[in-house]
Amino acid sequence: MSPVQLYFASSNPGKLRDFSGMALPLQLLPDFEIFPPAIENGDSFSANARIKASHYSRLSNTNAWIVADDSGLEVDALGGAPGIHSARFGGRHGDDEANNRLLLERLRGVPELRRTGRFVCVLALAHGGEVQAEFQGVAEGLILQSPRGHDGFGYDPLFYSPAAHCCFAELTPEKKARFSHRGQAARALQAWIMRNVV
Ligand code: IMP
Repeated sequence: MSPVQLYFASSNPGKLRDFSGMALPLQLLPDFEIFPPAIENGDSFSANARIKASHYSRLSNTNAWIVADDSGLEVDALGGAPGIHSARFGGRHGDDEANNRLLLERLRGVPELRRTGRFVCVLALAHGGEVQAEFQGVAEGLILQSPRGHDGFGYDPLFYSPAAHCCFAELTPEKKARFSHRGQAARALQAWIMRNVV
């Protein structure tokens, strides 16, 4: 699928690291940092991914395809929180340490069997300023009582994946991609590109 230029509209190093373990030929959108940021005021992962993809597709004025990722962690014992507020759960946007601390605090005393949750990722694909398609991936798991592993980002050190038999922060990007919400969405996006664009 090399003739198709796919640009990723994000500066999140954790997401970029995840994509480095995948076959998707995604490059950073040139000038991403100088564009005015998208206003993420949607009420779902899908709405926010679509807002970001169409915003940067319009601004970038290129013929390329723009990919935007909106994702987060839903915890059942917290009624689905932090959900779309995952990045700023602990107060400051992107403060992983504060987010994880608050998550553990809120789950104090909750037994293992009730610590279920899932990562959700929606990738929106835009071209010519309009969203053309979106892809969702979901990874089910359990929220640990204390962090494990040193890889990954965000809530990875607290997320145990029964499918992978370990915590997401114990996986290389290649292995995480096999089980992760982002890996699933990226494979669906890649298949769509093969069917519809290449
Ligand atoms: P967004 O940038 O608004 O989509 O927020 C994404 C936030 O969700 C991140 O900052 C993390 O806190 C969390 N998140 C999403 N995907 C992952 C993942 O793969 N591992 C760990 N945390 C994630």
